[in-house]
Amino acid sequence: MQITAALVRERSAPFVIETLDLAAPRADELIVRVVASGMCQTDLHGRDGYYAVTSFPAVFGHEGSGIVHAIGSAVRDFAPGDHVVMSYPWCGECANCRRQRLNYCLNARNLKNKGTRADGSTLLGKNGAPVYGAFFQQSSFGTFALTQARYAIKVRRDAPLELIAPLACSGQTGAGAVLNVLKPNAGDSFAVFGAGAVGLSAVMAAKAAGCAPIIAVDVHDHRLALARELGAAHTINARHCADVVSEIRNIVEGGVHYTVDTSAAPKALREAIESLLPAGTCVLLGSARAGIEASFEMPFLQQGRIVRGVVQGDSVPREFIPRLVDLMMAGQFPLEKMIKFYDLADINLAAQESTAGIAIKPVLRMPH
Ligand SMILES: [Zn+2]
Ligand SMILES: [Zn+2]
Repeated sequence: MQITAALVRERSAPFVIETLDLAAPRADELIVRVVASGMCQTDLHGRDGYYAVTSFPAVFGHEGSGIVHAIGSAVRDFAPGDHVVMSYPWCGECANCRRQRLNYCLNARNLKNKGTRADGSTLLGKNGAPVYGAFFQQSSFGTFALTQARYAIKVRRDAPLELIAPLACSGQTGAGAVLNVLKPNAGDSFAVFGAGAVGLSAVMAAKAAGCAPIIAVDVHDHRLALARELGAAHTINARHCADVVSEIRNIVEGGVHYTVDTSAAPKALREAIESLLPAGTCVLLGSARAGIEASFEMPFLQQGRIVRGVVQGDSVPREFIPRLVDLMMAGQFPLEKMIKFYDLADINLAAQESTAGIAIKPVLRMPH
């Protein structure tokens, strides 16, 4: 079938809206009529060729939500008309998938970034030439996307599809770090470093879990204002603060129980670690480029402190995304406050405003 999609012709080229051919679904696949797609930094990393395995021309997008349009012959748990979110891919066969650590799949890099199915076949084409889609096995920057049924998550029909798209990646990454990994008790103190879409999702989850106080650290005042609106009792603009760690210890004596770093900046990670109470935990969510190192004092860690990285919030999407949708529908996860909508045709503006920090979570609406 023909679709309209945002194509990147070569590394770092702008997105161009093109008509492309989408393959028919195999037995275990489905086609989703995409209603909306969030845009993450990862899409722009893909566009700019950060991932060595990426080929061009390519279609990106990995936070798609929409309505099931067609199903493969072996798909039993979906029917056309179902509302779905598409989440991250996994192989199901590696050592980590076999023990249900799907978000740490050993084949994730190729499945996310190579632009083909696992067997190397392409999903998209233009005038008979291959186009590399299958970004996160979905490529949601288009009117229709093909994915494996096992990566789709059915969601309740009264949830607005254009609002829940970001749950597929940034939403579950930030919220999952809090609710699946840290599992705070009500009254535990919490600080987030970096108040973008992931950090603010962590703030909303910390608020829902009853954390107090919640502290947000960032370098943009408008993001800190939103963090406050979403539940942060204290905010620190690191650009105007000489000593963030002392400032946090002034707010909560001795430091906080939990910190989350979404910035992937070595200075912020060190501050996130040094802000911890003994036996506190720091979670690293930001994706730093290869070769970046961070340092901290070893005796400081010895006091029971934990530092660990987390991918996709350690979420099992089929369980966690519906839970976040319920929270959102109950008013406890007001994602809409961080979203800025764009038409697909304005995708380059969305990318530009995302990079500039103007749009916290761009969401593209697909033309139909
Ligand atoms: Zn795997
Ligand atoms: Zn993402």
